[in-house]
Amino acid sequence: MSTKLYIEDTYSKSNQTVVCDSFENEIILDQTVFYPHGGGQPGDTGELQWNDKAIKIINTYNNKDGSIVHVAADMKDIPRSGDTVITSIDWVRRYLHMRMHTGLHLLGSVLKYGVTGGNISSEKSRLDFDMEEPVDKEYVNSQLEKLVSEDHQVTSSWITQEELKKKPELIRTMSVRPPENANNIRLVKIGSVDLQPCGGTHVKSTGEVGKIVVSKVEKKGKRNRRVNVKLMN
Ligand SMILES: [Zn+2]
Repeated sequence: MSTKLYIEDTYSKSNQTVVCDSFENEIILDQTVFYPHGGGQPGDTGELQWNDKAIKIINTYNNKDGSIVHVAADMKDIPRSGDTVITSIDWVRRYLHMRMHTGLHLLGSVLKYGVTGGNISSEKSRLDFDMEEPVDKEYVNSQLEKLVSEDHQVTSSWITQEELKKKPELIRTMSVRPPENANNIRLVKIGSVDLQPCGGTHVKSTGEVGKIVVSKVEKKGKRNRRVNVKLMN
C-alpha cells in the first residue's frame, strides 16, 4: 500500500519519499502526492528528482494490490528501490482538474438526475444524466454562478460500508460506485449543496471553481443527456 497524501491534503504539490519498487518505466513510492487515474479524473503528471537526475511522470494509476504506480516517460534511467526522491506534480494541470471536479459536483446538484458517466480533463469535462427532458442551459449556468459566488466550503469525512448501505440515496453516480472492498468510504460535502462518496480531488471552497459554464448539451439516446462544461478563467 502506498500512503495517499493527496487524500487529506489535495493542495500538496511535492514530497520527499522512498522508492519501494521499480520495473521498466513504472515506479512505486512509499508516499505520494500524485492522484491515480480514477472516478473520471485523469492521473497526475509531474517529475521525480533523485541524486542529480530527474524523470518525467506521464501518468499515475492504481495497482490491484493497493499501491500507486507512477509511469515514467522512458525506462532508460529510473530510480531504484531504496532511493530517496523528491516528487512534484504538474500543479497547473491538477488544479484545473480540482476546479473541474468540484464544478461537476455543483452541476450534479443543479440537475438532480442519476449520473451514468463522466469525464474530467483540464480543457473540458462532462457528466451524463439519466434524463429525457431537454437541459435549460441558461438556468444551469445561472445556478452554477450562484453556487460559486456563495463560496460553499468543501469538506470530507469517512463512513463505513455498513453506514453507506443504510444511505443508498448518497450514491448519485450509477457508473462509478465507491470501492466495495474498502472498509471506509470518503464522503465529500459541499456546504448544504451536495453530499456523496467520492475519492477525487476537490478545491476547498466553491469560489475557487471560478466561472464554469455549460458549453454543449448532447442527446445520447432517449434517456441520456451529456452535459459538457468548461472553465472561463
Ligand atoms: Zn468528487
